[in-house]
Amino acid sequence: MKYHSTRGTKSVNFNDALSSGLAENGGLFVPDFLPDLSELITDHQLDHQSFSAKLLAPFLIGSTLENDLETIIAQALNFPIDCKFLSDKLSVLELFHGPTLSFKDFGARFLANCMAKSQNNLSIFVATSGDTGSAVASSFYGIDNINVYVLFPKNKVTQRQQAQICCFDRNIHAIEVEGTFDDCQRLVKQAFSDPIFNQQLTLSTANSINIARLLPQMTYYAFTAVNYFKKHRQKLNFVIPAGNLGNATACVYAREMQLPIGQITLATNANITITDYINTGEYTPRESIQTLANAMDVGAPSNFERLHDLYKSIDEFRKNIAAIAVSDVEIKQAIIDCSHAYNYMLCPHTATAFHAANHLASEHQCIVSTAHPAKFENVIEPILAQKIPMPKNLKILLERKQTYSTIAPNLKALQQVVFDRA
Ligand SMILES: *Cc1c(COP(=O)(O)O)cnc(C)c1O
Repeated sequence: MKYHSTRGTKSVNFNDALSSGLAENGGLFVPDFLPDLSELITDHQLDHQSFSAKLLAPFLIGSTLENDLETIIAQALNFPIDCKFLSDKLSVLELFHGPTLSFKDFGARFLANCMAKSQNNLSIFVATSGDTGSAVASSFYGIDNINVYVLFPKNKVTQRQQAQICCFDRNIHAIEVEGTFDDCQRLVKQAFSDPIFNQQLTLSTANSINIARLLPQMTYYAFTAVNYFKKHRQKLNFVIPAGNLGNATACVYAREMQLPIGQITLATNANITITDYINTGEYTPRESIQTLANAMDVGAPSNFERLHDLYKSIDEFRKNIAAIAVSDVEIKQAIIDCSHAYNYMLCPHTATAFHAANHLASEHQCIVSTAHPAKFENVIEPILAQKIPMPKNLKILLERKQTYSTIAPNLKALQQVVFDRA
């Protein structure tokens, strides 16, 4: 399998796409083709890991990691996925049973295990406003030939989020920046173009544009839809909470591989760039707005470029993807309604999908739960006037000792803290 840039012509293999992250001319890597894997529908029942090995094998052909795929999957995708029925029409795909309780564990752990096997003495910089930082830190923890620097904004992440970023040591370095999330992102960009950083270190990123984070996310859609089809002889429709559109793109790819996925509906918060595009045909990126579903506060979704590469005209795009925007008021109401009707607690992101699903006529709906509600207890507990029991995985992280450095929002300060340690 080769990968080409959404903005270029040259194709590269998986290893090169993995290590460079961003592609030619600032584009994103996409697979040269999406293989027909409909054979998985008639295959005998498999567990998620064996299923994932079959699904992902074509994507690593020609890579030095080809023969390591099963080991990588065994180490990376080593936690359950669960599809629960709320009613006979509506199910919820729980993707939050990994070590940091969000679906980002799938992508980050697969990426980390691929890099551990193919790269040496790498330094990874990530800016985070929440879930990405903890998933990346946890995934790379203990991979001693890769150093990870996680930059987070001071006083802008919740106490629990901070604890989940700062609870690692060894090769993971948490850095509190006296500034905003935008300052963190700017610092990472500056480090990448800085001669001192580039002389001393081999730099890489672990953000969601890396194709190695996207590919493993196809597995839970394909696996769930195939199992559903075996039982009900119906395609499963997915409603997906969407921010940067990485999770949604993975579902679209799985359907293009001829797996039994029906309608795909994106649920956004008040950041309506994608709903607006579908409604008007005009794509207008904008500043992000802060909402209750903060991991989806994205005004210029980076994976739009991958979806647009697949569905080039607006008509084709509309035929394949629907989108519904959900306000903070509706998010709160969805959390209350779902708790009353089904005695089931939603995180604010999953709540957007629940709201959207209630506006769709079709049966066989599956809402995608991107995070455990306990990660957002500051939002949920006041709305429901109820304590959320602490999941074991979270308790383990919160009980660890916290270490981090604090820096002013400039490159000199970042250099000091990085090179003092090295
Ligand atoms: C990252 C995230 C999202 C958005 O996913 P994208 O792939 O960026 O669209 C939704 N919910 C949660 C909990 C997240 O952490």
